[in-house]
Amino acid sequence: MSEMRAESKRSLSDRAVNIGLLVLALTGLVAGALLADVFEVLVAVVIGYSVLRLGLAMLRNLARPLPEPPDPGILRKVKLEYRCSICGAEVRMTVAPDEDPEPPRHCQDEMDLVTPIE
Ligand SMILES: [Zn+2]
Repeated sequence: MSEMRAESKRSLSDRAVNIGLLVLALTGLVAGALLADVFEVLVAVVIGYSVLRLGLAMLRNLARPLPEPPDPGILRKVKLEYRCSICGAEVRMTVAPDEDPEPPRHCQDEMDLVTPIE
């Protein structure tokens, strides 16, 4: 379900990028055709579009995908408290996928475990 939503959101942003690139390309094409040889402009537009698509694809590969949400049946009740070492905020984790979950992040850093693990 959430995979489908992520998929449609992604294709929506893909469409927005494509429309933006198309408008840019057409603007360049019209402006270029008025000033220079049409063939050179076409080659430049194709090269520009390819470089942009390649760059966007590389950036997209760098983005880490969100992990799959776990089945509610395998979640465990925990009672862990974490403190942010930078600002001092504290949170209590009550449910986690396992008994020793990854600490949450705050102030862009992992929080410190306050309660000891039994
Ligand atoms: Zn903090």
